[in-house]
Amino acid sequence: MARKKTIRDIDWNGKRALVRVDFNVPLENGQITDDTRIRASLPTIRYLLEHGAAVILMSHLGRPKNKVVESMRLAPVVARLAELLPEAKAVKGTQATTGPSVEAAVQDLKPGEVLVLENTRFDPREEANDESMARELAKLGDVYVNDAFGSAHRAHASTEGVARFLPAVAGFLMEAELAALQGALENPARPFVTIIGGAKISDKIGVIKNLLTKVDALLIGGGMANTFLLAQGYEMGDSLVEPDSVPTAKELLEQAASSGVRFMLPTDVVIADAFSADANRKVVPVSEIPAGWRVMDIGPETVRAYSEVITGAQTVIWNGPMGVFEMAPFAEGTRAIAEAVAKCPGMTIVGGGDSVAAVEQMGLADKIRHISTGGGASLELLEGRVLPGVAALNDAE
Ligand code: ADP
Ligand code: MG
Repeated sequence: MARKKTIRDIDWNGKRALVRVDFNVPLENGQITDDTRIRASLPTIRYLLEHGAAVILMSHLGRPKNKVVESMRLAPVVARLAELLPEAKAVKGTQATTGPSVEAAVQDLKPGEVLVLENTRFDPREEANDESMARELAKLGDVYVNDAFGSAHRAHASTEGVARFLPAVAGFLMEAELAALQGALENPARPFVTIIGGAKISDKIGVIKNLLTKVDALLIGGGMANTFLLAQGYEMGDSLVEPDSVPTAKELLEQAASSGVRFMLPTDVVIADAFSADANRKVVPVSEIPAGWRVMDIGPETVRAYSEVITGAQTVIWNGPMGVFEMAPFAEGTRAIAEAVAKCPGMTIVGGGDSVAAVEQMGLADKIRHISTGGGASLELLEGRVLPGVAALNDAE
């Protein structure tokens, strides 16, 4: 996909920047419990303010289902943003997302000031990608900026529709995500190795199919490995398996064999006699899983084999934990793979909500070159899909 224009390509002096951010933060009793997403948008907002723009921010928060839900107003976000941006001349919010009151607030907005529009999903036209809402939003700004990578796989009025009516460029977060993920997919330094895990094969069939056309090696772990092993004829005991996906697993194994991609499955596993942290556990070859036992993690021999491939790679993408890492006795495989990725001298990318949580929990996040913030969006990119919110941005010359 073509490179996209960014906020560096615009002369912002005296302009109104209409910016889609991801302020979908967790709230408890009206208090923000984690402001990571707000902080992640600061470099873009600061750049715009420093270059003379007035900044209008749009975001969704939660799932208000097309109506005003008092507990999902962006007011707490506006308050926190004001604390984080002391250099802004003002940080204000609105009670509506579009309409006359918002237009009046925008008329009053001066360079150096920030205005946060009310939750975009209060308006039923947002998720319908309704053209009238996109036009109303577009009227508010001179240039549209998308910095909400995590919402870029959705064609909504504030992520896609609005971009049709204004010059449209990427913010710094969006730029970093695309540079890392598209860079790896389109022009990887080789060997290019991907590690795919997580609970279910059915969630990631599209990802595996697409990666098989691009990578040198694909390492499989987590619950999804079970279905591949089942397809190869192994007895999986009480392991999580998806019998309906066995034919697909067989196809993928054949595709791997004919494409010459090194496709690695666990050779040994940690098994337990119950799905519980205090279950009995042992390590066995995949050919010796007894009835009544279930796979909970990859085993030490598998860890060694995978680690060798990972540390020898020049590009690594990892999505999906290797085992039930939420339970300490079954977190070792995931930890060891995280350490191998951290040690890899090449470009390393981790994406996926649980994988990122695992890497953070293990204190290794700062040793990974790129941590992708958008779970669904990064999976769709890995599937080779075009994200509507990205496609709508102007191509760089
Ligand atoms: P991500 O969010 O990183 O994309 P997924 O949501 O696909 O990852 O999968 C994460 C989940 O997979 C975790 O909750 C983990 O416990 C589960 N999981 C991993 N291995 C197994 C296994 N062998 N059996 C059951 N669940 C597993
Ligand atoms: Mg998940």
